[in-house]
Amino acid sequence: MPRSVLMEELDAFTYREAIADGAPVIIPVGSIEQHGPHLPLNTDVILSKAMSTRLAGVIGGLVAAPVVYGYKSQQRSGGGNHLGGTTSLDATTLISIARTLTLEFARHGAHRLIFLNGHFENYQFLYEGIEQATAELARRGQDVSAILLSYWDFVDEDTIEEIYSGSFPGWDVEHGGVLETSLMLHLHPDLVRLERVMDLPAAQLPRYDILPVRAELTPASGCLSSAKSASEAAGQLLLERTSKALAEAISAELAAQ
Ligand SMILES: [Zn+2]
Repeated sequence: MPRSVLMEELDAFTYREAIADGAPVIIPVGSIEQHGPHLPLNTDVILSKAMSTRLAGVIGGLVAAPVVYGYKSQQRSGGGNHLGGTTSLDATTLISIARTLTLEFARHGAHRLIFLNGHFENYQFLYEGIEQATAELARRGQDVSAILLSYWDFVDEDTIEEIYSGSFPGWDVEHGGVLETSLMLHLHPDLVRLERVMDLPAAQLPRYDILPVRAELTPASGCLSSAKSASEAAGQLLLERTSKALAEAISAELAAQ
């Protein structure tokens, strides 16, 4: 039986062998965040883990147990942290998690790490933690490098055009919209309640943040654009194209290192 690519399903001996053989470690990072009335709170965890699993299959990597919680949801990208269900870490905690995990996988002997982000607001805090850890490892003379990415940056223009037919609202308001809902319909139809989609116009948010938030600026759905045109077929297309583009880029990067 081929070994699982999921670290959490391996025994420690098999895990150590894979690391000793040079397997890159992919760390999915998600959030527990409201995604409207039709998607589960762990949508970002499921999607980052699914993208990570496909990448691991191509590059011979291992998928670490995911970072389940993420940085605070922001009104202009995730509806806002004031909404019930959304359960977030503060910045210093997320920085510390990224730093600690980088040091832990380095301690196991991993040389190549990939943090695969599935929640918009996480990015800069992951960057900071990884930067601190890799600088520390370099000072110790350890050869460890890390790649940080958000999976939606690998969705190409043609796919956007095919799926949205000219009505792409922008990644900032995609929260709980067509992309995430379609991917979930393909990967976990059992967790999607399409009949509960609230078909509201995309959020009209200012080009600045307001603290504390003005809650009425977030649509009643909690989603920033409508998921009405989501479909399983679009999800399959998105998953295939995005994971392929992602795997090509990462394979080339690892080969160049
Ligand atoms: Zn999401």
